[in-house]
Amino acid sequence: MKHVVTVHGINSKGQWQERAEQVLAPHFSCINVKYAHYRSFGFLKVIVEPWILIPVLLLLLILSMTNMIHWTWGIWSVLLSGLLIVSHLFTYVRRELALRIIKTQIDSKCPPGERPHVIAHSFGTFLIGSLMKRFPDIQFDAVILTGCVLPAGFDWQSLKGNKVSGFCRVRNEVADGDQIVRLASLLRRLIPGMGSAGVTGFHEASRRSLLMQGDVISRANTIDDLIHTVDIRNRCLFPDCNGRAGIHNVRLPHDFSHNDSFTGTGHAATFWLPFLWNIDDAEYSDLLEACHLASELKRQKDQVGLRVMEEFFTTKLWDWADTQTVVGFIESQLLARQELQQGQQLTPATKDIVYRALVCFWDVITDATKTKDRSPQDPKSKHQMLSLYPRIAVAKALDSIIKTTQRPTNQQPPRGLGRGFEPKV
Ligand SMILES: [Zn+2]
Repeated sequence: MKHVVTVHGINSKGQWQERAEQVLAPHFSCINVKYAHYRSFGFLKVIVEPWILIPVLLLLLILSMTNMIHWTWGIWSVLLSGLLIVSHLFTYVRRELALRIIKTQIDSKCPPGERPHVIAHSFGTFLIGSLMKRFPDIQFDAVILTGCVLPAGFDWQSLKGNKVSGFCRVRNEVADGDQIVRLASLLRRLIPGMGSAGVTGFHEASRRSLLMQGDVISRANTIDDLIHTVDIRNRCLFPDCNGRAGIHNVRLPHDFSHNDSFTGTGHAATFWLPFLWNIDDAEYSDLLEACHLASELKRQKDQVGLRVMEEFFTTKLWDWADTQTVVGFIESQLLARQELQQGQQLTPATKDIVYRALVCFWDVITDATKTKDRSPQDPKSKHQMLSLYPRIAVAKALDSIIKTTQRPTNQQPPRGLGRGFEPKV
């Protein structure tokens, strides 16, 4: 099972990682990276090293208060300035230790050669960016950045590489109102590599740097193929995008705050999961909505509504289904099972299986979204949640229908509803 690495930010034990795991675990093996270096007073520790600053400052104060030494304000200011500089330099040591901990945790759980996905939040995005630049063996597949504190002009070019890229796809969630990112960006002069991509998105500088690789990235790819910006719940409208752009800035609502992605599990289920599957989230939402509606119409035995839905699933093309309709995809999967060639004449019995599998597909998807006990440890709910991946839902629907067609005739279940399911007369 493919791995997903999650990395939390400062002042946190990363409780969101366990919540996200409830959504991700049935489909991926989660590596929830933990590091304690910034768990408390994290913002301070990013700027100065308290284990240097505080003891030395206390020592100086004690010496001064006990009248052992008499320093002028001039000497005090020089001493304090020197102390601040030294304690700032020691933050590099703390950061280095955190980086090594993260690298060790990833290496210990991820087999060599695998490209795990990664989800990073806040300071975790800074650490992941540093890790990717520092260690060439760190190669991710999908990268999700939320509350990102990397600079807008982050040098993605150096990660793209000539042959082996350090990443495949990036989803950078951008929120104008993320005050923590704005605050962190004030430190960019103090801490090289820190910035405000979580507010501004990645932009021209990194786009230009990617274009410099004219020989590596096909010149057929226009400038717009490299970094795209889209609004949440909208499909990327750049021509022929199909996720080919390395980086997508996804604009969230203006008042979306730094930790809002972790309120409940909805954000992870609605947006992160499809991105990790390389399915457009708008398309995925359309699919869930249509399946819910069709399943409800079936429950109400609304024949007219069912015919409309059947028409919809017979005509609408889906990227996740290899640009086929759902009916076409089910048909191709059935043909593959029966070792038949595409275009070969389907028998009435096979057509019947396809349309009954479509009805079952609606229910399988709808049941998966309604899984109440989202515990990946529970085999039943895990099995049910697996069907959130449309291709697995199709396979399960086909399994179910083929199994019922193999029953003795006196145990046949009632036929489905809609045009394709009416008893033949
Ligand atoms: Zn795009």
